[in-house]
Amino acid sequence: MSQSRSAELRQRARALLPGGVNSPVRAFRAVEGEPVFIAEAAGAYMTDVDGNKYVDYVGSWGPMILGHAHPRVVEAVQRAMQRGASYGAPCPAEVELAEVVSAAYPSMQMLRMTSSGTEAVMGALRVARGFTGRELVVKFEGCYHGGADYLLVKAGSGAATFGEPDSAGVPAGIAATTVVLPWNDDAAARALFTARGRDVAALILEPVVGNMGCVPAEPGFLQLLRELTRESGALLVFDEVMTGFRVAYGGAQALYGIEPDLTTLGKIVGGGLPVGVYGGRREIMERVSPLGPVYQAGTLSGNPLAMAAGVATLALLREPGVYARLQALGAQLEALLVDAAKASSVQLTVQRVGSMLTPFFGAGPIRSWDDANRCDRKRFARFHRTLLEHGVYWPPSQFEAGFISLAHDDAALEQTRKAVIVALAALAAQ
Ligand SMILES: *Cc1c(COP(=O)(O)O)cnc(C)c1O
Repeated sequence: MSQSRSAELRQRARALLPGGVNSPVRAFRAVEGEPVFIAEAAGAYMTDVDGNKYVDYVGSWGPMILGHAHPRVVEAVQRAMQRGASYGAPCPAEVELAEVVSAAYPSMQMLRMTSSGTEAVMGALRVARGFTGRELVVKFEGCYHGGADYLLVKAGSGAATFGEPDSAGVPAGIAATTVVLPWNDDAAARALFTARGRDVAALILEPVVGNMGCVPAEPGFLQLLRELTRESGALLVFDEVMTGFRVAYGGAQALYGIEPDLTTLGKIVGGGLPVGVYGGRREIMERVSPLGPVYQAGTLSGNPLAMAAGVATLALLREPGVYARLQALGAQLEALLVDAAKASSVQLTVQRVGSMLTPFFGAGPIRSWDDANRCDRKRFARFHRTLLEHGVYWPPSQFEAGFISLAHDDAALEQTRKAVIVALAALAAQ
């Protein structure tokens, strides 16, 4: 596998871009590897600049649920581009996408488009604070909600303490407006709401956590959080940037039958173009400027190209049988990992919800960040490297979910199966 062109590009990139990338996980640090530069992608495959072809399970970190460069999406974006890239004025496609999203997520009675998931979360939490008149935000350890200062926090020592900065450049005073709780821990959530419930503006969570690897909520946990927030007047915010249109067309809220006060979307809703959405109950969203006093804006928000990609993508996801097929493909991927682990006697815990999945190198179940953090990252890194060498592009971190798309066919899965067998056998031999 030649990497000479990627190597040359890495060198040029590192001279100008920190780590040679524009988003840190792409640098492959967590797997002690070197990233390849992608030249093009189609269907289930990506091809790098040296001509190496990979079955892709990153899918741009979730958006490419149809596979890459789906002809209908390409056509929609091309047509939109011919009508002009951006107007900075209302356009029909943003109304269309808003109607499609609100129909799919009835809890989003009113919504606002942004250009990224990070912005959607920042907007949702600002309106939560503006609506409740409270400042405290509660999040869970291992959940990721984008790059806002007050969300780049880790737990202090002891349960449910004020957050401490998890990045340089985050002021301690800002981190302290966030409290961090352990995931799937009923007692810690109850204790926090008993002590501080009246101060909490919003409780934000990934209803299926994808950002510590795939860690679903245990039965009853989401219901408990719904009750605790309702009783205390705090808003429940489902960050469905990853799970929206992924675990079900209506997201985790449809899958589990729980209605949040606010929802954030991103990734799939933009069909691979930069889009975020936040929305919720009308009375809350009516606080957003220009209707209300909560300011939030974006020059490229509701961009016609991005809206066209989103509308085209969601139309294809509404076709009958799509989510059953994603579920079946996910089950096939899970089975080939579990079978190969058994055959090689490598300890692997595969956790999956629909078409998102993580193989954890450790004993399961993985219920929390502490559990995930105990997994063998060195083993994962070697597994990742062998897969890449055998033409399978898996997310370059133990703490990420892999995504399967509608374009993954039998040939792609068979190639994956063979690569997984080689990768796990190599680990067992060590
Ligand atoms: C990816 C992600 C975000 C951030 O979205 P960006 O578009 O990268 O800003 C927020 N929340 C969750 C759950 C995500 O997976």
